Amino acid sequence: MVTIQPPQPRTAVSSLPAYVAGRKATHPDVAALAANESHYPPLPLVVEAITEAAGRVNRYPDMASTKLREKIAEVNQVTSDEVAVGPGSVGVLAQLIAAMCDPGDDVMFAWRSFEAYPILAQVAGANSIKVPLTPDERHDLPRMIAEITVRTKVVLLCSPNNPTGTAIHPDEIAAFMESVPTSTLVVLDEAYREFMAHDLDTVELYRRYPNLCLLRTLSKAYGLAGLRVGYAIAHPEIAEALRRTQIPFSLSSIAEAAGVAALDSLPLVLERAATVTAERERVIAAVRELGWPVPDSEGNFFWLRCADELRERLVHEFNEAGIMVRGYAGDGIRVTVADAPANDRVLGLLAEIGRR
Ligand SMILES: *Cc1c(COP(=O)(O)O)cnc(C)c1O
Repeated sequence: MVTIQPPQPRTAVSSLPAYVAGRKATHPDVAALAANESHYPPLPLVVEAITEAAGRVNRYPDMASTKLREKIAEVNQVTSDEVAVGPGSVGVLAQLIAAMCDPGDDVMFAWRSFEAYPILAQVAGANSIKVPLTPDERHDLPRMIAEITVRTKVVLLCSPNNPTGTAIHPDEIAAFMESVPTSTLVVLDEAYREFMAHDLDTVELYRRYPNLCLLRTLSKAYGLAGLRVGYAIAHPEIAEALRRTQIPFSLSSIAEAAGVAALDSLPLVLERAATVTAERERVIAAVRELGWPVPDSEGNFFWLRCADELRERLVHEFNEAGIMVRGYAGDGIRVTVADAPANDRVLGLLAEIGRR
């Protein structure tokens, strides 16, 4: 008799860590502060564009996402052959790793950082090289340089870093780029750039280094998390490779139309981001006042490092209070900054925990 062996996924896949998504709010009184989403309703132009695009979903999207790429090029003053898009910046990053890494190559990033990084590397058969953050929760750039080898095809810099909020100064990035081998592609993940304290011209940095590329998303400040639109600004050969590794039509026609409308709403996006940024500064000052050490954050969230016992207790207390936050085993808790009433609930709870 033949043995019956069911189909087996690759070991790399069965051993994947699960992506822990921020839990969904199931009740209007629940504050959803676990996923760094925008608490604002979708942008008015986006709602209009989605409604209009709905009438054409019997047709395939434009495979090259021409309108969206041209809009991104215009906004960033690059050419559309320097733009690649995908379903969220996580989708674009998967395209990037697929384009750059053979199985056994290395993808380097700081740790702790965005939890999608090790998953995407592992699916591609690449090794994750995790370089610990410094004690002040920042990228350890000298150590990253020291650990680069001929196998390091991609280095991911996350600034501001999710979940610690710390940003890398453009001068530090420039100094880093001067020491990185030109054959290693450095990806600057700017998911939270709209919330940064200073408006930095990373496109100018990008122009200076042929092995630097920028990764952007419309999921956070632009409020399009549910539609999945991300993009990369990359030198033409790399951008072309990213377009080749995109799953055909993975950016839907509705997502493309919404992306254009979101970019057309830039002034409103920046106004909303400025409100969140002001709240972040208020909240962090108040949390420090309560005695918690909080690193400076340039994202729409703040970071409480704590040992596991305290982390478990805090996550539980937040849940009980109807506030969803994101806990990270072994590291701490990340809390999204939203509107003032939600932030005040966070402050109220932390004050109460401190009194006990
Ligand atoms: C949220 C986030 C993204 C965005 O992912 P999308 O796929 O665009 O929704 C990318 N990078 C980091 C570091 C993030 O925190």
